[in-house]
Amino acid sequence: MPHPLDILKTVFGYDAFRDAQAEIVDHMVGGGDALVLMPTGGGKSLCYQIPALVRPGTALVVSPLIALMKDQVGALLEYGVRATYINSSLPSGVAAELEEQMMAGEFELVYVAPERLMTERFMQRLAQTQLALFAIDEAHCVSQWGHDFRPEYLQLSALAKRFPQIPRIALTATADVPTRKDIIERLQLEKARVFISGFDRPNIRYRVVLKDNPRRQLTELIQEEHADEAAIVYCMTRKRVEETAAHLEAAGLKAVPYHAGLDARVRHKHQDRFLREEGLIVVATLAFGMGIDKPDVRLVAHLDPPRSLEAYYQETGRAGRDGLPAQAWMCYSAADVAMLRGMVDSGDAPEEQKRIERQRLGTLLDYCETTQCRRQVLLRYFGEELAQRCGNCDTCLKPVETWDVTVPAQKLMSCIVRTGQRFGAAHLVSVLLGEATDRVVELKHDRLSTFGIGGELSPTQWRSVIRQLTAAGLLDVDQQYGGLRLNEASQPVLRGECAVMQRQDPDPPARKRRGEKKTRTSTAPASVGAGDEKLFQALKSRRLILSREQGVPPYVIFHDSTLRDMATRRPSDLAAMGQVSGVGAAKLKRYGETFLEVIAGYAGGDAAAKKQSNRVDDPARGSAKPSRPKRDPADMHLEFVVEPFYDDEPPPGDFF
Ligand code: ADP
Ligand code: ZN
Repeated sequence: MPHPLDILKTVFGYDAFRDAQAEIVDHMVGGGDALVLMPTGGGKSLCYQIPALVRPGTALVVSPLIALMKDQVGALLEYGVRATYINSSLPSGVAAELEEQMMAGEFELVYVAPERLMTERFMQRLAQTQLALFAIDEAHCVSQWGHDFRPEYLQLSALAKRFPQIPRIALTATADVPTRKDIIERLQLEKARVFISGFDRPNIRYRVVLKDNPRRQLTELIQEEHADEAAIVYCMTRKRVEETAAHLEAAGLKAVPYHAGLDARVRHKHQDRFLREEGLIVVATLAFGMGIDKPDVRLVAHLDPPRSLEAYYQETGRAGRDGLPAQAWMCYSAADVAMLRGMVDSGDAPEEQKRIERQRLGTLLDYCETTQCRRQVLLRYFGEELAQRCGNCDTCLKPVETWDVTVPAQKLMSCIVRTGQRFGAAHLVSVLLGEATDRVVELKHDRLSTFGIGGELSPTQWRSVIRQLTAAGLLDVDQQYGGLRLNEASQPVLRGECAVMQRQDPDPPARKRRGEKKTRTSTAPASVGAGDEKLFQALKSRRLILSREQGVPPYVIFHDSTLRDMATRRPSDLAAMGQVSGVGAAKLKRYGETFLEVIAGYAGGDAAAKKQSNRVDDPARGSAKPSRPKRDPADMHLEFVVEPFYDDEPPPGDFF
């Protein structure tokens, strides 16, 4: 049998296993069963791909999304691995032919959807095939707890009985305990070894900003920090998806909408463009993204809050799978909080379910309002303690100032009581500030003892106090009219039994004057020089040409991280090229020369690059962005294949 480490090096071009990979691979090679919980981007695929290459026979990979199988297989073919998929996108003659080849042992890996795998016919064919292992990807789909439940996954429990001697490995990025229990029970993995990796994604920078003008905030973020980079923007409703995509387009950015209300062809086309083009922004409802292996998504932005912290971690996990710096950004407001609360309260769910939902919402709010390190809050939710502040989230980078709002909170609460616990923030702030508005006078609220007692805070500060008290559950909001009420938790505050500390919101960003720009916070690694950056761009251009010629996404040829390594090392011959991380034997043979050409051609370009980098520092010119080759939009049209979203399954509905 070949050695796993040799395969890692020669086929995939990597020097060492990451974290638990080596142990998992050994366990699988030895014929054990495994449940692997690893964050997105952690490197789950190699955990079954390498045992598939080491063990004799064919590995069956169960994957829920047939639209993505083609790319997964395409990536393996690039590594020189014999792989295929068999699904309903293929003409039945072709599928039958591939099944014959599978039985003859011609493939190392075969990707199938669960509903096809579990048909009696396919089972019988498998019984006549030498099998290396079963890999069940996105295994959380078997759980009703998870948000991607797929009933077909339930049938997979039969694998244990039908093929007791074949090792099975289930993989997921979902960590919570009920889901984990479900997977073990439903897939009969009681005897499997469970591998739980650390859930930290250190290359993702977490940021939460207060909603001011969300579309403008988003546009500026993309223009200033993520120009020409792939991004996913999540919105709650289809309408908002459409409007946001249109807004970004109008601002000159390349953006497409994605939601379940779109025609399946359009949706598929947009997903395909996202995978194949560079620097496209997909604006989507929360249904978008499962199984998308695109490694170079640099930004995941939430214009509306996610459903839970768990969902947030999954969604933001789609950023930076290649390990290069990426950003998770959320824009959030008090109105969102009220709306989410309202949705829970007015829903038809039984009270117990509502209680859980409220708790989930509470955790999400804690995350949004925290003055602590955001990564510490996130990881604690998954049962992990991060000993020190991370240094790569907004609260670490710019520590939040806190202030004691006990007295203002008491003033506000007594004002709420005096006005009858039915008025919203605007009116209460007027009373506190002593503004004799028509309404205040009409209601005789100018005669209350709390009229004008709050002059020490500005209206914005009062709104911030109210938002944070509400988020912390120290006040309740009437869902219909927005009136504020006290609750049990308010009492100790009112009685002065506890102090209330709150974050001091940053001043709203001043409107920028025309021409004024912030410097770009580059997502390029800090060690990258300007010369490397230009070479990196040149390597990317060559990659794009190759990817179009071959009809595969650019990252299937080489990941950004591989091109970065190439730009730093600047290999001058094939032997040196083979040392670059991510360049295995097959890719070296196929692409080594062409990328060496780019590097050789660039040797004379260094002086020019230096000049360019000096110019960046010239204050008279303002801050210049590294120039990127302009693309003709007409060039970007690529052919795409229309495939059903799932194997014989309708697409999922929007969540809202
Ligand atoms: P997951 O399925 O867990 O989200 P992937 O299997 O897609 O993650 O791997 C994420 C990225 O990490 C891929 O770009 C992959 O090539 C890379 N990777 C995985 N294992 C290693 C390793 N041992 N060394 C270097 N890169 C790795
Ligand atoms: Zn931090």
